Amino acid sequence: MSRSKELFLDHAATSPLHPDALGVMLPYFGYHYGLPDSFSDLGARSKRAVDEARSRAAGLINAQPQEIIFTSGGTESNNLAILGTVYAKGSKGSHIITSSIEHSSVLNTCRRLEREGFHVTFVPVDSRGRVDPASVRKAVRSDTLLISIMHANHVTGVIQPIEEISLIAREKGIAFHVDAAQSAGKIPIDVQELPIDLLTLSSHKLYGPKGMGALYIRNSAEIVPIFSGTGEEKGLRPGTANIPGIVAFGMACHMAQRDLKSNRTMLTSLRDALEQQVTGRISGAVVHGKGSLRLPHILCVSFEGVTGDSLAANLNAMDIIVSSDSSLNEHGGNLSHVLEAMHVAPQDTCDAVRLSLGWENKENDVRYTVSCMEKAVNRIREFSRVSEGTELNVFTFPDRKTALTAIEILKGNVFPFIPCPKPNDIVYAGHSPLALACMAAHHDAIGGILGDSDIDIKGVSKLTPCCRTLENKARVFWNKVDQINKEKNY
Ligand code: PLP
Repeated sequence: MSRSKELFLDHAATSPLHPDALGVMLPYFGYHYGLPDSFSDLGARSKRAVDEARSRAAGLINAQPQEIIFTSGGTESNNLAILGTVYAKGSKGSHIITSSIEHSSVLNTCRRLEREGFHVTFVPVDSRGRVDPASVRKAVRSDTLLISIMHANHVTGVIQPIEEISLIAREKGIAFHVDAAQSAGKIPIDVQELPIDLLTLSSHKLYGPKGMGALYIRNSAEIVPIFSGTGEEKGLRPGTANIPGIVAFGMACHMAQRDLKSNRTMLTSLRDALEQQVTGRISGAVVHGKGSLRLPHILCVSFEGVTGDSLAANLNAMDIIVSSDSSLNEHGGNLSHVLEAMHVAPQDTCDAVRLSLGWENKENDVRYTVSCMEKAVNRIREFSRVSEGTELNVFTFPDRKTALTAIEILKGNVFPFIPCPKPNDIVYAGHSPLALACMAAHHDAIGGILGDSDIDIKGVSKLTPCCRTLENKARVFWNKVDQINKEKNY
């Protein structure tokens, strides 16, 4: 896999397509175009390939091939698992249990069910990001239809006690769904050992193609389709299948299973080195989920006085790609909802960045990242110090290359500036996500320097001072805590 100039440390968001997965999918865009259920040699070849992919996906979690339904990804699998189960069992009850730290594809599906008249309990997590099985047991009602708890969290990497929760579900006769989009291929999963009824897989988190996934459905599980159409995938996923995607996803599952042990050891050691160096070298670092069992590749960390978005933008300007709240939000996720649920103080929730490693990362990537993070954190703190209490302006540019050139031109200049993310309220196309902030008083001078260098400035906006944003976040946070306390009579 040839690497771009960028150092990609955002594998929990997505991973590059493995060349071997790409290799097996290409013929199915070309001369292997038959539909698996057609009576032709072409069809038979596609059927064999799909069967093999199904066995490979099943193998990753020790399931039977017939218990795997291919879908368009983790989001669809979560929707099918939750809606399909609840609609199948709807006459027997109206209550669902999930946790407050799930991915939005679970949270929003549950909220939809609430609007349809079902009742949902969102169980809390502790300060280390872990669901307490006792709170799941306490939430169970006589009309509970489904428990849906993720295997590992996408923000902190914290592994949830799904074994204990699966036993509670089994004891009470409640269907149990596990979103394993982040954990599959990273840590072992064995559905023969655990009484899980449904389990979500996402292809692009494990070096497969995007827009592919699967839902494991235990043979005995009760489920109905949520889409209407023809009979593919046992009628649960009607419509013509994405054969190239399925074949490549199967290959990605096969490789993830084959290399799981060695990748896990390597990633754990890289992540631990990253964590040690970051906390050892940069003051005010807080690791979220520390003390809990975590996935081997994720590190979620905050730095006192540094917003995560600003740190992610500064790292981006140094060609290092990580996630922060706004980048996750754009993909329908959220970093702060997880940290808020852990009762992390508001200033730390928006200070966090998520770094997530892949097997193509090396030790020198860790060293390079830590030294860039140290520079970026110092730079942001210094800029905050000199600009404290003043108004800030943000220059936006048509593309990242122009933003980087502007940053280069201003280096060594007397006017302080800092790379920053494009303000959230600029949503229309044509602005690079990477922007540049300076003190409003220096706006004309900086604009002049950039203009003299023929830099195309797309727009200038005022930036709400960071502390004011934090104040707002803090107010929302404490209101929520008050509300929870009131509801629970604490
Ligand atoms: N579940 C979790 C925990 C995730 O992290 C994600 C993606 O970030 C999804 C579900 C959605 O998966 P997909 O992107 O395949 O729809």
